[in-house]
Amino acid sequence: MNNQNVNENGTCVPEMFGSLVFSDAVMRDRLPSDVHQAITNTMSLGTPLDPAILDVVANVMKDWAIEKGATHYTHWFQPMTGITAEKHDSFITPTSDGQVIMKFSGKDLVRGEPDASSFPSGGLRVTFEARGYTGWDPTSYAFVKDGTLYLPTVFYSYSGQVLDKKTPLLRSMEVLNVQANRVLALFGKQPCRVVPNTGAEQEYFLIDKKMYKKRKDLKFTGRTLFGAKPPKGQEMDDHYFGSLNPRVAAYMKDLDEELWKFGVLSKTKHNEVAPAQHELAPIFTTTNIATDHNQLTMEIMKKVAARHNLVCLLHEKPFANVNGSGKHNNWSLSCMSGSEKNANLLDPGDSPRDNAQFLLFLCSVIKAVDEYPDLLRIAVASAGNDRRLGGGEAPPAIISIFLGDELTDILESLSNGENASQHKAKTLELGVDSLPKIPQDTTDRNRTSPFAFTGNKFEFRMLGSPKSIASTNYILNTIVAESLRQFSDRLEKASDFTKELNLLIKDVYKKHKRVIFNGNNYSDEWVKEAAARGLPNYQTTVDCLPHFVAQKNIELFERHKILSRVEVQSRMEILLENYAKTLNIEVLTLVDMVRKNILPSVIEFSNALSRGMFYKAWTFFGSCKAEKTLLRKASKLCDELYSLIEDLQATNISAQNIADMEERAKYYKAEILPHMDKTRGIIDTLEEFTPTEYWKLPTYSDLLFTV
Ligand code: ADP
Ligand code: MG
Repeated sequence: MNNQNVNENGTCVPEMFGSLVFSDAVMRDRLPSDVHQAITNTMSLGTPLDPAILDVVANVMKDWAIEKGATHYTHWFQPMTGITAEKHDSFITPTSDGQVIMKFSGKDLVRGEPDASSFPSGGLRVTFEARGYTGWDPTSYAFVKDGTLYLPTVFYSYSGQVLDKKTPLLRSMEVLNVQANRVLALFGKQPCRVVPNTGAEQEYFLIDKKMYKKRKDLKFTGRTLFGAKPPKGQEMDDHYFGSLNPRVAAYMKDLDEELWKFGVLSKTKHNEVAPAQHELAPIFTTTNIATDHNQLTMEIMKKVAARHNLVCLLHEKPFANVNGSGKHNNWSLSCMSGSEKNANLLDPGDSPRDNAQFLLFLCSVIKAVDEYPDLLRIAVASAGNDRRLGGGEAPPAIISIFLGDELTDILESLSNGENASQHKAKTLELGVDSLPKIPQDTTDRNRTSPFAFTGNKFEFRMLGSPKSIASTNYILNTIVAESLRQFSDRLEKASDFTKELNLLIKDVYKKHKRVIFNGNNYSDEWVKEAAARGLPNYQTTVDCLPHFVAQKNIELFERHKILSRVEVQSRMEILLENYAKTLNIEVLTLVDMVRKNILPSVIEFSNALSRGMFYKAWTFFGSCKAEKTLLRKASKLCDELYSLIEDLQATNISAQNIADMEERAKYYKAEILPHMDKTRGIIDTLEEFTPTEYWKLPTYSDLLFTV
């Protein structure tokens, strides 16, 4: 190994990178060349794997895994819980003489049978068999972690119903490939494998483990259910990109090294806007690998934090009044093979023909986003994200696209045949004229847009930090594939391609330009303007989820064979149930903390005040004005708090008795959320004047400024 790659601690990153991954290099090295070729074809061309080679692959994989310390294997899958699931089986197989050998067959590799009955299925398992199967996904690399060989898999029921997040994602990638190739063929391109790429920027908070342990709300709900505003928050903007403190720096170093071993392309790390908030960004990769890597990243972030006596919070809004954590889903399309290998289809390109092709792909996204904003909103919906979206820190719930003035001008000029205002460009004719150069840096200035074109990719910024990126991307892939399908249907029939293309772009832009907005998305004016433009504004999870089963959405998913009507219905049920469950846990935790921590603390303080006044009266005749005021205030607020939590508890029982999930979720939103917020208000006021020795629970200052 080249010495330049080794640092003073003897760490050699290129050697460490992917050392726990059954990577292409390992396969090339260890598999017979025809077998390696077959796997490569599956990964880059989508060719189905020949079952005949599976035993060979399994055996080589097992030997490699054992060398890396593995004794077990697991089919690693992504059920509807949003996190990953695994069941470990050892390689041991008994021999006739009472010994064991380590065995792993092709059959073990491709299919597993975990019991599906305890995973959310949104009603599917009532109707169908409880049994679930996992199937190996050879397009995402296997790896060894903590003594187990991890095989990325999909998860489905006995009768073939999809039970996970990966299956629709893989299907959507396939559909996108087919439809994108139809468009490429119209531009005279050879068939190639078109894949979506994703780079998922991940925000997180790091807090001290000792503090965390004292807060049941953080432990059970992932966020603080109360907490008075600290004297200092994020108003000084001194944390963003600030120098890393040594404890955080050590954590980040450890995290990078751990991720690199798993082949995660962790690239950028920095402090974020809020105190104790940070970000990690990987280099983008194929969306299915990016999805697996993001799941791994979130898991490893938490694990490494524990080693540093820290806790990594991935909740969308762990603290009120300071920024929450999001995840930016950077998305583009590229050719993975063929003569156009590595070409980014969202890159404007140099020649008139490339420009035209670029604009067509661009328009496919504009049309998709305008026609399916409900699905994109649903893809990011959760009780936690409702607290983050639209708060002047994250995009509002209105989906719009930022294109930048240059591109908007170009489309405007194409659509109305007039000169582009700023560029003094002549009237453009697609496929004949070259576009004016679009400077990449000016396209990325607007940080308030939920869906921004940033030069050669789209950045979807509405995801909450704990969200699996699988749902966002299968929706994005499918809606864009649908636009491409309609474009190809029209263009394939045209006698004059260039003329029809110009007409099509004009039509699409005219029809969908309402979704383009280059201004400030955080402003109140935009909310009004968006309403005037007829753009939906589903403020909460409960408002958007019922649209999942809208006829147009079911038709979309069924047409492309991504999900069936029942599967869409079941996904909606799961999300609604998840919303209600989240709020139920929050209520129970809040009630518990009020009873066990807050009321006792404030009552103890009140008692001390009364005792003090009593003694004071014996010694001199002071007014006890301060004591009396505090005591009166504490007593009044405690009474209010007490009756509020009694009500809250009763209302929560009523909510739990509502059988229909949509009704239950609506009830939580309408009846319980306002109640919880009111309760919080009282607790925060109490915290403000209760002395630390009585309050005992870590405050926002403790949580945000200790590390
Ligand atoms: P920021 O949004 O903070 O300015 P960067 O520009 O550094 O961040 O990058 C954001 C993310 O976008 C990174 O994860 C990067 O890998 C990803 N990215 C860059 N180019 C592409 C692309 N063509 N397709 C998908 N993701 C991309
Ligand atoms: Mg970003």
